[in-house]
Amino acid sequence: MEIFRRWNYRLEPVGSQADQFVRTGRRNRYVWNYFLGYMEEAYLAARSAGGSLAPITYPEMSRILTLLKAEQPDLYEAPADTLQQTLMDLRETQVRFFKKLAGRPRFRGYGHARFRFPNPKQVLIEKDWIKFPKMGWLRFRKSRVFEGSVRSLTVFWEHGHWWVSILTKCQVEIPPSPAGLPVGIDRGVSNSLALSTGQLLHFPVPTDREERFHRFLARSVSRKRKGSVRRTRALGRLNRLRRRVTDRRRDATHCVINRLVRETPVVVIEDLRLRNMTRSAKGTVAEPGRNVRAKSGLNRSLLKQAHGEFTQILRYKSVRSGVELIEVPPHYTSQQCSGCGHTAPENRPSQARFRCVSCGHEAHADVNAALNILAAGLAVTAQGGTALAARRTANPLKMTRRTAA
Ligand SMILES: [Zn+2]
Repeated sequence: MEIFRRWNYRLEPVGSQADQFVRTGRRNRYVWNYFLGYMEEAYLAARSAGGSLAPITYPEMSRILTLLKAEQPDLYEAPADTLQQTLMDLRETQVRFFKKLAGRPRFRGYGHARFRFPNPKQVLIEKDWIKFPKMGWLRFRKSRVFEGSVRSLTVFWEHGHWWVSILTKCQVEIPPSPAGLPVGIDRGVSNSLALSTGQLLHFPVPTDREERFHRFLARSVSRKRKGSVRRTRALGRLNRLRRRVTDRRRDATHCVINRLVRETPVVVIEDLRLRNMTRSAKGTVAEPGRNVRAKSGLNRSLLKQAHGEFTQILRYKSVRSGVELIEVPPHYTSQQCSGCGHTAPENRPSQARFRCVSCGHEAHADVNAALNILAAGLAVTAQGGTALAARRTANPLKMTRRTAA
């Protein structure tokens, strides 16, 4: 089976190369923001005229880009296909927004730098050296050998360093699906996971010391003049702290998921992109409910990306390991009893406890929710899959259906 894989490496630009990345990033950001503004204006105009609006087509965008380049000649200095790729990415986000699959595309702020080279032939790689169009050779930290044929390359700035993400298409052997029981997972708003097996897992969170240090560094950055050397240095310290905390979290995520895909044939999770729209009493990741203690800066920003990352890693690891991943819409209320199905707010005497007023079933509230999620997922498989709105990342090699065990 063919799958896509990403391989990230740290780039080591020297001399003016980092500057060139900054400029290319800035031009791509400019194009993104310009077209997003253009679309929003067109949308508002169409709305006030009483009509609706379809997303702008790519040829139309491309035509405007040519005009824009004539007005802003420095756009010619950015590799042309990165700009075109940015337009395609923007259009993709726009289409997904119109289909209600994703949030509204957002403007990219200062410091956002990410651009993609869609044509791998334009980028040369030799040992641990890489050459992008309109730039000289530079080194990257080749921490491992990548496999497969290169499809595209993305350069981005994160945590104080430049990175390249190489997307390849690989041929992989899918192993037979692991033995074991299906597992449902409830992801809390906080740093925890509840499994339908009754296990509760807690992810590493920033320590109080790190939170304090983060506040100190953030304040120190904000006191310094924009563009100054001192501010850049302070930002570097802030980035190092953020990287340490996110790396720790990411590592734990990989460990948990590695174990999951070895020990279970089916994993059921909630499709959280939909949860953000339904807004449950539990709150969303971005806006935790009243019961959830909203910790300060560092932990908040960690959580924002953590849920998306969990899904992303789980998706590709389950495909690779022959595990079936089922994402169910999040209608499986936390007030429902996983034993008898009775649904009542009284079932939840507290945030952590679940006690059914009808049958007396008692469990940790999140484990109860995980059991509901599991049941919902297994109902989908029993019905032949696509009947419900659930999306399945099925293993194409395996055609047998599983029923609730
Ligand atoms: Zn019950």
